[in-house]
Amino acid sequence: MSNHVTILGSTGSIGRQSLEVIAALGMEAVALAANSSVKRMEEQARQYKPKLAVLADEKAAADLRVRLADTNVQVLGGLGGLLEAAVIPSADTAIASLVGMAGLRPTLAAIREGKRIALANKETLVCAGPLVLEEARDYGAKILPVDSEHSALFQCLEGHDRREVKRLILTCSGGPFYGKAQEELAHITVEDALRHPNWSMGAKITVDSATLMNKGLEVIEAMHLYRVPVEKISVVIHRESIIHSLVEYCDNAVLAQMGAPDMRLPIQYALTWPNRAASQAVTPLDLWNCGPLTFGSPDLDTFRCLALALEAAKTGGTAGAILNGANEGAVARFLAGEIGFLDIARKVERAMERVPVVQNPTMQDILDADQAARESVG
Ligand code: MG
Repeated sequence: MSNHVTILGSTGSIGRQSLEVIAALGMEAVALAANSSVKRMEEQARQYKPKLAVLADEKAAADLRVRLADTNVQVLGGLGGLLEAAVIPSADTAIASLVGMAGLRPTLAAIREGKRIALANKETLVCAGPLVLEEARDYGAKILPVDSEHSALFQCLEGHDRREVKRLILTCSGGPFYGKAQEELAHITVEDALRHPNWSMGAKITVDSATLMNKGLEVIEAMHLYRVPVEKISVVIHRESIIHSLVEYCDNAVLAQMGAPDMRLPIQYALTWPNRAASQAVTPLDLWNCGPLTFGSPDLDTFRCLALALEAAKTGGTAGAILNGANEGAVARFLAGEIGFLDIARKVERAMERVPVVQNPTMQDILDADQAARESVG
């Protein structure tokens, strides 16, 4: 079990819930890092009293330094600050919850210190899965998934021989536009896309959940994390988000992990593994009142992003980085009101056609692919 934690991405949805879990378990947050949320970081620093508070944005960090002048909290800025928070010696665990490719370098830095990594940043594995996992093996850093689906798979795989696994089944809520046809999605607004039925999350992942790109990224993440070819991974629509994912074994037994849709459970398990801890922070599942559970097939024609992600998973190499870079760029443009909802898939598809794929890539190949994909989105 971890006792001292550094949170890379403390002001976002996962970061804030992580702080609740840490407090409920009596653990200590020794460093907090985020991009630019000065006010929230000041509040967190005052409440949780870390040794170090970091904002990647230098201006925001300068502001934070003034605000926290009356405390003992050290304030740093920039990528250097993020890396300091990642490697802080007093932390045995790093919660990697920065959004997007920006999380890659700090996560790798924490891995190289052999820390336990509670991984919430799926883009890191989507872009650089084999390299990140190889480093984790070399430096003895245990990676524990925080994403609810991957935590569920992890829990269903524990204690079983991996050779007996027939298939991983990721559940997918279907997002806010489940059941709609392509033409109905053409005029979706940012506000529509940010309304998720079951989970409360940050803007980027909420849009990814609406396009089903999030599920596509999760398939690629699962493929790397559990070393299972994409052909042995399926997605099932499960609107209620009570079953968080399943593993089918060679004898056709299917194990499922269930729980209330509450991210604090997978966060906590990543911190307490291999043990479980009684929790006041996590909502219990009320089976008697949760209603019927339903299952169905995803609509790959309407939700093109999922189809594109499955294609990138099959292609391998830098295809994941291209998919992700284009998606990050396109989602940012959608959130800025510059492109329509359906343009996200179009931009990603175009990037995949235009940017050449490199097999067995180096880290530089991956960074180049990410950059080229972002540029192709405009
Ligand atoms: Mg998820």
